[in-house]
Amino acid sequence: MLTLLFALFVQNSGELLESLQGGGRTYSHCLRLPIDSHGTILLLSPAPPHSKLPLTQAFQPVLRNLAKAIHLCRDSAQLTQDLVSDRDQARADLAAALQRSERERAFLRKLNDTIPDLIWLKDPQGIYLACNPPFERLYGAKEAEIIGKNDYDFVDHELADFFRENDRVAAAAGKPSTNEEWLTFAADGYHGLFETTKVPMLAADGQLIGVLGIAHDITERKAAEERIYQLAHHDPLTGLINRFSLQERLKQALLSVQREGKQLAVMFIDQDHFKDINDTLGHHVGDSLLVEIASRLRACVRESDIVARLGGDEFVVVLTDVGAGIDAAPVARKILEALGQLYTINGKVLHSSASMGISISPNDGDEVETLMKHADTAMYHAKGNGRNNYQFFTKAMTVAAAERMELERGLREALIIAQFELHYQAKVCTHNNHVCGVEALARWRHPERGVIPPLTFIPLAEETGLIEALGEWVLEEACRQLAAWRTEGIKIESVAVNLSAHQLRSPMLVERVGAIMRKHNIKENELELEVTESVAMGNPEMAIGQLSALRQLGVKLAIDDFGTGYSSLAYLKLLPIQTLKIDRTFVKDIESDENGAAICAATIALAHNLGLEVVAEGVETEAQRQFLAEHKSDYLQGFLFSHPLPAAEATAFLMEHD
Ligand code: C2E
Ligand code: MG
Ligand code: MG
Repeated sequence: MLTLLFALFVQNSGELLESLQGGGRTYSHCLRLPIDSHGTILLLSPAPPHSKLPLTQAFQPVLRNLAKAIHLCRDSAQLTQDLVSDRDQARADLAAALQRSERERAFLRKLNDTIPDLIWLKDPQGIYLACNPPFERLYGAKEAEIIGKNDYDFVDHELADFFRENDRVAAAAGKPSTNEEWLTFAADGYHGLFETTKVPMLAADGQLIGVLGIAHDITERKAAEERIYQLAHHDPLTGLINRFSLQERLKQALLSVQREGKQLAVMFIDQDHFKDINDTLGHHVGDSLLVEIASRLRACVRESDIVARLGGDEFVVVLTDVGAGIDAAPVARKILEALGQLYTINGKVLHSSASMGISISPNDGDEVETLMKHADTAMYHAKGNGRNNYQFFTKAMTVAAAERMELERGLREALIIAQFELHYQAKVCTHNNHVCGVEALARWRHPERGVIPPLTFIPLAEETGLIEALGEWVLEEACRQLAAWRTEGIKIESVAVNLSAHQLRSPMLVERVGAIMRKHNIKENELELEVTESVAMGNPEMAIGQLSALRQLGVKLAIDDFGTGYSSLAYLKLLPIQTLKIDRTFVKDIESDENGAAICAATIALAHNLGLEVVAEGVETEAQRQFLAEHKSDYLQGFLFSHPLPAAEATAFLMEHD
């Protein structure tokens, strides 16, 4: 502003007046200055200037003071303006703050009234200062009745002591502390688990002025957690612990037996033929059976032992403290006996049994994986040993298990690169010694091991399911060969093919046999299927259904190895079969054992009585042939007539005996 004034003056933009009349006086040397747009300043010098001082100099001090005054004036005006706007702002801020605090208070009120958590405030002596409505439910009293009282006025001494101790701990710690407690509401008897947080309230000087409590109901959350835990660690069907938990528990048990220098037994249990039960009686029956098995297993062992279900029909029992390894044997026997007892499920009586493999720590390993693997290997041996028995793991089993794996791998490969072949063994008509049929017997021509007999690979093919493909190939190849012999003019009544248990169960069997017969133009009774006695009797209802359907296709049916299994004559009568094949173990005994001879004779008579033809297997001597011919066995088969021969040799043999 000062600069501006000088500028004005220097530029003489002000108006210099010689004299001015006003207030009864005459002023000379007046200076009129317009100030911005606000007005004009008149500078008057009442006396004439003393000298001839130039006007500019005469007014200079005045102008300087004036400039200062104007500046001050302007500053104070600005200040006033600032103060006013600050005041307005302060007012607005205050209004906003009030609004905010009102909102916060409303929020706190709402929170206090609606939050389901129990909230209360006590003074350092435990006297209630405030509480919210849910807390009123706990003590069954209104806030006004609670304030001024302490816990001893509402709950028993023991619980009040407990609350007081929690308050004391939180106060002493000087920071919030949380614990879980079961509370029962006096108002309605509700009983739940609460997570309670105690917060010590401290004044600015650090003095304790009270303890704030918040209790949150976690009953449902805990139950849900418990359910999730159960699902993650237990088998939902049987309630036993699952594979995951077993590993944890077994690890713990191993640590403890290692510490105490004790022994532990891992028993791997697999139900025998469980799949048959599931397939024929339905999964609900299978499930009920598993539940019953689980409860029998639990009943056989001590509380401290572990019982787990790995899945399917596989269970594991861990005896957490056994003496010398052999001590597990009585428990194993007890378990197998319990599992072998009859089951009544949905009013139906069922029979089932189990196979068990046992590994002992530390002898057979001191790690979960090893023990489980060894018990599993031993279990396979129990299966191979005729099922319904237990086997202790031995080192030799590992070698056998490795061989088995190698065999399985080779078997898969053999199917792909066609290493199987069929040999044919003649079946001779007893009364005229004519070859009337052949039995097709599978062989595996192994590149290194030579010819592998079927008893080595058929059971493995069964177990692994590979029999499905192998069995179909055998059927197809036997039918193709029969058709080829026909074309070559070789007269032969029938070709017999062996059916495995797995194949007999297959729902595709009838359709596949029908298709193969059509493909090779096989007529009625030209294809004979042999089913062993044990396979047919293992599940007679299923066998009757499948065999009847096959019979409808025109397939001839025989029971193989008769006399080796357990036969029910009642069922035998119901099976739609045409032939009984007497097992060679009886034929072998004809000369040496009266019983063997008697059994053969009786079987032939029985079969004839049932309207069945008889084939005697394994005829090796003239004496056996003679005996069987005398007792009217219809057909004979055995090394006496021919070994099983490869196709080309069999063709030559058939041509020779045509
Ligand atoms: P199987 O059906 O009872 O076949 C007869 C078995 O007795 C054959 O053994 C045969 O070589 C043998 N044998 C025949 N005559 C005599 C004899 O006079 N003395 C002696 N000691 N043995 C004789 P192989 O070929 O080793 O077959 C064994 C079993 O393997 C068969 O018993 C059959 O149950 C099964 N098998 C063979 N081929 C197949 C097949 O393609 N599928 C299925 N599922 N099983 C097959
Ligand atoms: Mg046979
Ligand atoms: Mg046989």
